[in-house]
Amino acid sequence: MTNAAHPFDALMDITARPRIVFVRGEGSYLWDDAGKRYLDFIQGWAVNCLGHSPPAVAEAIAAQAKTLITPSPAYYNDTSLRLAKALVDKSCFDQVFFANSGAEANEGAIKLARKYGSVYRGGAFEIITFEGGFHGRTLATMSASGKRAFEPLFEPKVSGFRKAKLNDLTSVKELINPNTVAVMLEPIQGEAGVWPATDQFLRDLRALTDEHGLLLIFDEIQTGMGRTGRLFHYEHAEIAPDIMTLGKGIGGGAPLAALLATEKASCFEHGDQGGTFNGNPLMCAAGLAVIEIVGKPEFLKSASDAGLFLESELQRLSARHGLGEVRGRGLLLALDLKLPMGAAIVAQAMSKGLLLNSPQPDALRFMPALNVTREEISEMIDGLDDVLTKAGAARRVA
Ligand code: PLP
Repeated sequence: MTNAAHPFDALMDITARPRIVFVRGEGSYLWDDAGKRYLDFIQGWAVNCLGHSPPAVAEAIAAQAKTLITPSPAYYNDTSLRLAKALVDKSCFDQVFFANSGAEANEGAIKLARKYGSVYRGGAFEIITFEGGFHGRTLATMSASGKRAFEPLFEPKVSGFRKAKLNDLTSVKELINPNTVAVMLEPIQGEAGVWPATDQFLRDLRALTDEHGLLLIFDEIQTGMGRTGRLFHYEHAEIAPDIMTLGKGIGGGAPLAALLATEKASCFEHGDQGGTFNGNPLMCAAGLAVIEIVGKPEFLKSASDAGLFLESELQRLSARHGLGEVRGRGLLLALDLKLPMGAAIVAQAMSKGLLLNSPQPDALRFMPALNVTREEISEMIDGLDDVLTKAGAARRVA
């Protein structure tokens, strides 16, 4: 192969990217290399819980970089200990393993469940996951996912995953057999288009898994760290899972993820789990800065209020343009467009300097910074209103 002609061509072409190059971010805004400003309601796919380049995270990383970057995961370091303690203190879990991505944390959760099966359940290894679910892009997490488009890819998949239907307890019951060790789900299916599990379904799953001695695993990579108005989504249903994974928001934009488990579920033995960068103090410093802010009740209250405001504004917009329901919770919301016009709306919005996401052809997903202001929400709504008006006019002409 010859040297790539344009820097764009030096990157593997793994997705259709618009030919825009971002060079700076601050709060809810991004700037490209031509100086154009964009209002960002994607925020790195629900990653930047405090917006772009939040000073608290930037300062924590800079200070940590000057102090200690990576001593080796074979030693303790004070920053990861402090973050692990903070997560344990604020959750129903007893132990934490830090990872570098959501998929890696979920891979760890799958391994931990299989380990539990071998230690306590006579070698049971099957995990019940859900149609439409998304757990990452490693081979095991793609196999655990219930995303249709993954089905023909990279065969043979990792075996041992059976897919139930979200909010259908009977479909879960029917899959339980002596090999089953766990049930794993996202409390709100994000990539599938923001489809929430009901709190009652989550409570029923807890009762069912308890009855059968199974682990309940929550993938809170998208819903955790305040995204739905509580620090962790499981709090809404007032239940305690056995295992939870965190990613995205936990690092405030820095690559950090975590696998949390209760004392009983936390059964790895030496040699079962590890990784060179796991628990490195540089990223854990970012995590500490995030939890110190996001973990405060007043911060969660204001994120929750912002979510309610966004939801009501989207409902107003939906009524005005004859669109469908608004679903989701907190600052993870979707607007049903009723027609497959998501990609066109995203493109139109982008040309106006508004970044939106369409996880499914007929839906828009909103995942702004958790400290997004009412003014920024109104600015987004006005921009989207404009785009929808033009789209409606175009439809009428056609
Ligand atoms: N699980 C859920 C629910 C997610 O939304 C994602 C990413 O979108 C992942 C897992 C994978 O995380 P990562 O992309 O950090 O590997």
